[in-house]
Amino acid sequence: MQEMVSTSDNHAVNVAQEVDECQPPPPKRPLNGDSREDIDRDFKFSDRPTLEELHAMHTRFVKDRDWDQFHSPRNVLLALVGEVGELAELFQWRGECPVGLTDWSAKERTALEEELSDCLIYLLRLADRCRVDLPAAALQKLAKNEAKYPIDKVFGSSKKYTEYQ
Ligand SMILES: [Mg+2]
Repeated sequence: MQEMVSTSDNHAVNVAQEVDECQPPPPKRPLNGDSREDIDRDFKFSDRPTLEELHAMHTRFVKDRDWDQFHSPRNVLLALVGEVGELAELFQWRGECPVGLTDWSAKERTALEEELSDCLIYLLRLADRCRVDLPAAALQKLAKNEAKYPIDKVFGSSKKYTEYQ
């Protein structure tokens, strides 16, 4: 059971091969010296894999190992929290980081990509275990947030909605 929630390199080979089959472009990496405006303006995710493709690949990864039995909603949530902790550790004691993390080394960026991916994979898995259609739910939540934070009331402000109503 020690490896039931692992998404480490040892267990990611098949998934990585499946992702390769989708042939997404390599992740964009802002070069040192790029302006903040360039970094903000140009960033976009790859079109593939889609969330559902990632979900399907990971579901097969889990089924192939008979790990469904360990993936109760609670267990997957705790695994996700653990991965968020690993992600936070990368930022710990560094002070503020610029957008694009232009001062991070290639090794640090690779670690960041891996921990963010672990978080995403477990988030998708948690949504699966809870039977939540996550992209559809996120779309609804964005619409709710649009109504909750009207631009004319909150533009340039970081106040919570309860403070300006
Ligand atoms: Mg991790």
